[in-house]
Amino acid sequence: MTERLYYTDSYLADFEARVVDRADDGRRIYLDRTAFYPTSGGQPHDTGRLGDTDVLDVVDEGERVAHLLSRPISGERVAGRLNWERRFDHMQQHTGQHLLSAVLAEPHHFATVSVHFGPETSTLDLDVGAIASEQVVGAEARANTIVTENRPVTVGFEDSGTATGLRKPSEREGPLRIVTIADLDRSACGGTHVRATGEIGAILIRKVERVRKSVATALSRIGTPDVLEPISRMLKDSSPAIRVTVLGNLEGNKSRPLAMPLAALLESEEHPDVQREILRALGRIGTPDALLALRRVANGEVRRLPKRLRLQAIESLAGVGTPGAQILRTLAGDADAEIGSAAAKALQEAMA
Ligand SMILES: [Zn+2]
Repeated sequence: MTERLYYTDSYLADFEARVVDRADDGRRIYLDRTAFYPTSGGQPHDTGRLGDTDVLDVVDEGERVAHLLSRPISGERVAGRLNWERRFDHMQQHTGQHLLSAVLAEPHHFATVSVHFGPETSTLDLDVGAIASEQVVGAEARANTIVTENRPVTVGFEDSGTATGLRKPSEREGPLRIVTIADLDRSACGGTHVRATGEIGAILIRKVERVRKSVATALSRIGTPDVLEPISRMLKDSSPAIRVTVLGNLEGNKSRPLAMPLAALLESEEHPDVQREILRALGRIGTPDALLALRRVANGEVRRLPKRLRLQAIESLAGVGTPGAQILRTLAGDADAEIGSAAAKALQEAMA
C-alpha cells in the first residue's frame, strides 16, 4: 500500500521515500509514500524526478502507485521532486472545475458527468438536453465572483454512511475524501486542489459544444468504411463520455479496420473509462489484429497500462471463442497469481 502524501498536502513538491519494490529492471518503482499524483478522475499524472531520473508516468494500480522512469534506478532511499508548474496547473483546473460544476448544478440542476483536464483546455460534460447562452454567461460570471471572494478550499475525511450534502452521491463505501469550497460545494474526490478559490485565477468558458450521443451511437453502428474517418476523429477529439459511447457501440463484424487504430489509441488514452471500453470493443471486434492487441495488453507488454487493464483484456479474450481460449491457456500459467487465476477463470468461460 503506497501512502499518498497528496491526499493531505497538495502543496508538497519535495519528499523522501523508501523504495519498496521495483519492476521492469528498475524502471518501474514502488515507494512506501509518494507525492506523485497518478492519472485518475480526469486529472493527468504528475511528472518530475526521483533522484536525478525523470518520472515519465505515474500509474494508479489500486493499492499501489507505480512510478515509470526514463531509466532504471538503484538504491533504497530516494528524494522525489514534482514538476510543480504542471502540478499547480492541474490543481487550478481541478478546483476550477469543481467550482464551475457547482454553479451549474445549483440553480439549473445541470449535472457534470465527466471531466478531463488537458494542457490547453479542460472539458466538462453536462448531462443536459439544452443550455442557453445566458445560462453559460451567468455561470461563468458567478464562478468568477466566487474566485474573487477567495473562499477557502479544504479537504477532510468522512464516512460514506454519514457524509451528507454531496453534490454527487458517491458509490464508494467506507472513508470518503471530501473537498469543500466554503458555502458552495462538497464533493468526494481524490484529486489535488488549491487552498482558496483566488488561486484558481479567471475562469473562461471558451466553447459550448452540443454532442448528441445518438449521432455518435448511430455512426458507430453503421461501421462502413466512409464512417471510419468521423469515428476515428470522435475517438480523438471528443469528451470522454462521447468516446465511451462511440466505443460501446462499435459492432464486431462491421468494424474490422478499426482494430489497429484502437490498439494504438489505447497507448495514448488516459481516461480509465475509455481505456476499459477500448478493450471491450476489441473483444467484440475479435479479428486477428484485435486478438493480437488484447494479447499484448493481457501479457503486460504495454508498459504504462495498470493491472486492472490486463484483467480487462483477459475478460475480453473470454468472449472470443477458440482463438481467445488459446491465449488464455498460456496466461493461466502467468507468474502473477492474480493474472493467472483470472485467466484460468476466463478460460472456463470461453470453453463453456
Ligand atoms: Zn474532483
